[in-house]
Amino acid sequence: MKNYKISIIKGDGIGPEVISATERIIEAVEEKFSLNFEKIFVEAGLEAYKKYGTNLPDFSLEKIKQSDCLLKGPTTSLEGEGTELGVPVKIRKYFDLYANLRPLKNFPHIKSIFNGVDILIVRENTEGMYSGLEYKLSEEVNVGLRVATKTGAQRIMKVAFENARERKKKITLGHKSNVLKMTDGLYKDVFESVSKSFPDVEAREEHIDALAMKLVMEPQNYDVIVLENLYGDIISDLVAGLVGGLGIAPSANIGENFAMFEPIHGSAPDIAGKNIANPIASILSFSMCLNWIGEKDASRTVENAVINLLKKGEKLTVDLGGNSSTQEVSESIAKEIASISV
Ligand code: ATP
Repeated sequence: MKNYKISIIKGDGIGPEVISATERIIEAVEEKFSLNFEKIFVEAGLEAYKKYGTNLPDFSLEKIKQSDCLLKGPTTSLEGEGTELGVPVKIRKYFDLYANLRPLKNFPHIKSIFNGVDILIVRENTEGMYSGLEYKLSEEVNVGLRVATKTGAQRIMKVAFENARERKKKITLGHKSNVLKMTDGLYKDVFESVSKSFPDVEAREEHIDALAMKLVMEPQNYDVIVLENLYGDIISDLVAGLVGGLGIAPSANIGENFAMFEPIHGSAPDIAGKNIANPIASILSFSMCLNWIGEKDASRTVENAVINLLKKGEKLTVDLGGNSSTQEVSESIAKEIASISV
């Protein structure tokens, strides 16, 4: 039996509900594939802030360091000047999880504007506008720094091209180098230089505003899209909307030696505590985790179990037009996992 240590942040709002549903899937995978996941629960988020005055205490970081990978539920970030960075931003920086992979595609029976969409957004995770380097210059002026480094650009482009090579061999860089000549200009130069090592991958570039428009008109024409941090944050929600919403959108945050897996959606306080949140984004994030630790069969089985459930169209949460509870959906996916032959 293979053993893994998985740290788990339950998170805020619907976090504990979707994570508990995912724990049921962890159990189903353990049984089916003779694996053992030692779960290390970690306090982080708004509840931790209320108890300890920080959303990510040092002892929580120490616990995460003892694990092979981290499964994270959504955490609520405090807004306003002077408040701390959000938990995911802190963890991405601390473990240098520079590549944020966000696969977004059509699933059976999920109402969406388009069919045939299958896009992987590769978002740079550690620099750019999103990294929170903001300062007050005077009573009148606040500034935010948008840092772009050659090393940062090179490593994210490499991950993006490698993923494109494994998929449909098409990659698009979204940028605004006609205005942001130093920062986006650097990403564009590095993109062009890395593309020379991947002659089998068709590489194109688009201004980010034009890309946003084309995505809502012809999303089927895209495969891998590589983006700076803030562009990636915004464009991935846009594409999630094109394929049926946030309830089915997973993500992976990957570094050289560690990785964190989390649904793209937030803590959704409007539906928290009602047992109606869709657990699929969190469950598919666990599938990405299985793939990263090398359990490829188990990863595929979890994704196929989700697809089987959606094909049947019986057990769906409210956001997908059904009336099943969070728990019922995960129980049905666990049954699908047990019945799939590998
Ligand atoms: P954040 O800034 O933390 O990312 P957000 O402002 O993007 O949060 P979310 O918390 O992601 O907002 O919620 C956006 C909308 O999507 C809400 O109406 C919420 O109820 C819905 N939603 C989010 N996640 C789910 C889910 N798992 N199941 C069903 N509905 C969801």
